[in-house]
Amino acid sequence: MDSLRRVSEITERLENAFGEPRWRDRGKPLASLILTILSQSTNDNNRDVAYARLKERFPDWESVMRAPASEIADAIRPAGLANQKSQRIVDILNWIFTTYGALDLDFICDMEPQQAIDTFTQLKGVGLKTMSVVLMFCCGVDIFPVDTHVHRICRRLGLVPHNASAEKTHHLMQPQVPAGKSYSLHMNFLHLGRTICQARKPRCVACPLVDVCPSARIETDTRNSSTALD
Ligand code: SF4
Repeated sequence: MDSLRRVSEITERLENAFGEPRWRDRGKPLASLILTILSQSTNDNNRDVAYARLKERFPDWESVMRAPASEIADAIRPAGLANQKSQRIVDILNWIFTTYGALDLDFICDMEPQQAIDTFTQLKGVGLKTMSVVLMFCCGVDIFPVDTHVHRICRRLGLVPHNASAEKTHHLMQPQVPAGKSYSLHMNFLHLGRTICQARKPRCVACPLVDVCPSARIETDTRNSSTALD
């Protein structure tokens, strides 16, 4: 089976198993960008706590931009790497304000997605994944973000080489994802990664892709169970 048909079948199987996720607007691009910075190297819960504390401490983005980085770090500490992330947030807000004259990124939804990616990935802390997430969730762009779950699963499924970086995985996968299905496949891979194809111990026996996955391992001996490896 060629790779296009394989990705198409995987998309369909996951929709049959988990349902077809429907895109819903996740809010403003600037908020999403900051949220994605906070999410780096932590889990969703810590990210959300940090974001809530940031919003509680500062009434608007301008106040965040003008605050000392140490005050922002204090607010976002639950997300980890607080000093690094706070400085990045201040730098990004300053750059946006200086470049566009306002702390508002709604206009990126009207830009060519590639132009938005090229423009904003020049900023420290903003990578391809971050911009793909913002464009997909806030603008409804048919783009396939590769986060840690998606990266792991694509490699385990043999859709990309085992040593492919997350960025390389994005470039290899995007042309293979059926048109209009980036959101569905991303969300269903996320669900699969959180519930079944976990990093340490995938439960292949419960996986809807078990018969099309070259990394699948079925436990046959409970004394010596084997699992798929990264
Ligand atoms: S069969 Fe196992 S390794 Fe393959 S995708 Fe499913 S859970 Fe992951």
